Amino acid sequence: MRVLITGAAGFLGSHLTDRFLAEGHDVVGMDNLITGARENVAHLDGNRRFQFVLHDVSRFIQVDGPLDGVLHFASPASPIDYLELPIQTLKVGSLGTHNALGLAKAKGARFFLASTSEVYGDPQVHPQPESYWGHVNPVGPRGVYDEAKRFAEAMTMAYHRYHGIDTRIIRIFNTYGPRMRARDGRVVSNFVVQALKGEPLTIYGEGQQTRSFCYVSDEVDGIYRLFMSDHTEPTNIGNPNEFTVRQLAEKVLALTGSSSKIEQRPLPTDDPKVRRPDITKARTLLGWEPKVELEEGLRHTIAYFRSQLGK
Ligand code: UDP
Repeated sequence: MRVLITGAAGFLGSHLTDRFLAEGHDVVGMDNLITGARENVAHLDGNRRFQFVLHDVSRFIQVDGPLDGVLHFASPASPIDYLELPIQTLKVGSLGTHNALGLAKAKGARFFLASTSEVYGDPQVHPQPESYWGHVNPVGPRGVYDEAKRFAEAMTMAYHRYHGIDTRIIRIFNTYGPRMRARDGRVVSNFVVQALKGEPLTIYGEGQQTRSFCYVSDEVDGIYRLFMSDHTEPTNIGNPNEFTVRQLAEKVLALTGSSSKIEQRPLPTDDPKVRRPDITKARTLLGWEPKVELEEGLRHTIAYFRSQLGK
């Protein structure tokens, strides 16, 4: 197959690109590099099955030659980025999704949408099954991401129903691992970098809010299986092991051996109090479940940031 991956120079996009290449497919990787890094795909320079295209997918997307798949992964993905890039976040989720769907239609390609657990907002159902419609504040600072992704899901289903496009929708829960940006602002990268630098670990609020962290290799395996499946309805892919943010901070301190202190900061607006995927569907339909425990994943992530900070 020959596939387009938007956001290919990002954290998830670059790992997904590696997976598609490893499976023997050809990849066109597109990115405007506002939150992605060329370095994440630099190891693929010279690979004849990979082509990098610098382009903002919120503008009309032109790709020469046939495509069998269009995987739309371009988007800022950290709450700090949404605050800095609110309009771009809205545009890539809405206009970018529309352009990517139009390209898939023109090429007769399968379309794959990277959606998010943020469509559930600050959830009133716990854990979150795909059937839950969510609890999102449209006008809060996170609304730019949440609503763009909700629109993207609606647009994807409309192209599926009206144009008969073959589509997939994944809802990705908190994912971490090598190639996250050190200054990304997400909790795992923040804590690891802070611990390695001996800076205080910044816990927002009391740290009693929960998240369920999925290591990137597990997430990418779920993405690949869903892409290859025939399942059109949204599917959660995430690790159901749930931790408080304070537990995460303590684990990072233990694994790095850092003597950093813990400091409390104000809780961001609309920060979800709990989050945990119900992965019954992924288990039964895809035979998928995560394999990497938090400690093991953190060890790999710590090793990565150690080498990055050494550079
Ligand atoms: N968080 C924190 N300290 C940080 C960064 C994040 O306590 O330095 C908290 C944040 O308030 C949230 C959780 O960690 O409750 C996960 O935040 P992240 O930005 O990784 O992603 P989210 O799941 O909120 O989209």
